[in-house]
Amino acid sequence: MKAFAAVDVIRAKRDGATLTDDQIRWVVDAYTRGDVAEEQMAALAMAVFLRGLDARETATWTGAMIDSGSRLSLPVERPTVDKHSTGGVGDKITLPLAPLVATCGAAVPQLSGRGLGHTGGTLDKLESIPGWRAELSVDEIIAQLNSVGAVVCAATADLAPADRKLYALRDVTGTVESVPLIAGSIMSKKIAEGSAGLVLDVKTGSGAFMKTRSDAEELARTLVDIGTAHGVATTALLTDMNTPLGAAVGNAVEVAEAVEVLQGCGPADVVELTVALAREMLALAGISADPAAVLASGEAFETWCRMIAAQGGDPSAPLPRPAHVTVVESPADGYVSALDAYAVGVAAWRLGAGRARKEDPVQHAAGIRCLAKPGERVTEGQPLLELHTDTPDAIPAALAALTDAVQTTDTPPGPRTLILGRVS
Ligand code: URA
Repeated sequence: MKAFAAVDVIRAKRDGATLTDDQIRWVVDAYTRGDVAEEQMAALAMAVFLRGLDARETATWTGAMIDSGSRLSLPVERPTVDKHSTGGVGDKITLPLAPLVATCGAAVPQLSGRGLGHTGGTLDKLESIPGWRAELSVDEIIAQLNSVGAVVCAATADLAPADRKLYALRDVTGTVESVPLIAGSIMSKKIAEGSAGLVLDVKTGSGAFMKTRSDAEELARTLVDIGTAHGVATTALLTDMNTPLGAAVGNAVEVAEAVEVLQGCGPADVVELTVALAREMLALAGISADPAAVLASGEAFETWCRMIAAQGGDPSAPLPRPAHVTVVESPADGYVSALDAYAVGVAAWRLGAGRARKEDPVQHAAGIRCLAKPGERVTEGQPLLELHTDTPDAIPAALAALTDAVQTTDTPPGPRTLILGRVS
């Protein structure tokens, strides 16, 4: 491969030039091998954040990220289909969705990540279940897909290793919210994972990386085009992330809420999105089951228990409980008109549900329970939010993040539209 000086590639993008395929392939490969330093990649990521990548550069960038490792091959009998969310607050949808879609007859290989910024990570949530193990070998993944139909586990070490490094670097350099960088990150992992179908949940709103609808639409179109170009049947739903999903935000609290959904209860928005994404996944897999009926039947809960047990977890073990609980009360009578997802995400993260540095552990019991959601009537002094943590020193900073998080009005707000659009 032709070599370049990293500083020339950085300068070119800084000054608004279009990078050549050779420059992109070289810089991604050299970064993965450690020949491009972290500070150089940080500078390039910021240049890409500010200047963008065009469609050809984005496709080449994604291809180079895929080629930084090897592709999984999943020789399983059922059709394979996966889902990926661009990241939100209270987004525990993977937990009920994977066993639900498996119960309907597909194989769901969910290679997931840890928390990024204020958004939670699926593996961090599942690790609050005693005994549950995120790291599986490829043989274990295939065996579990054949026996249970669903696996949620950590990406194997050689699956898009460039993304593993870059994801952590972007998290601490303010370079997450970029369409080409998010597209390259998500699609390199998902294409390398080897699933035949992919449904993307592209979030928009205060708690999403894409704050505006038009940015989210651009991201959804970019993701779908990359998937399709690589032979993966891909569709996307555009969904609201101005308000957290469900009532629980954090780790163990989100697992508990996912279990409620699998047992036929749970918050209406979590159920609605789980069923909508399941329909999309089953359509791609060519399966005509009704996911709403399967969810209500409790069969998906049985699959959940088998999925957790297959990875060493005890699905009936009590989940960790916080050492400290603080309640935020409503300052006035009225209707909750807004509950800001970003503020709740940051507060949960400060309580210990997320990491300040990538090597930090998360607190499994940390998080927030939203006791009143937009549209609900509340009275002065009524508990609105319950803050959970093992480290009470974290509470003032979490409360500061929540200063304007809940708005109340005298009249009820209009109904929330959760699913805003679809891109195929
Ligand atoms: N999820 C990812 O996997 N990567 C990103 O860059 C953002 C969300």
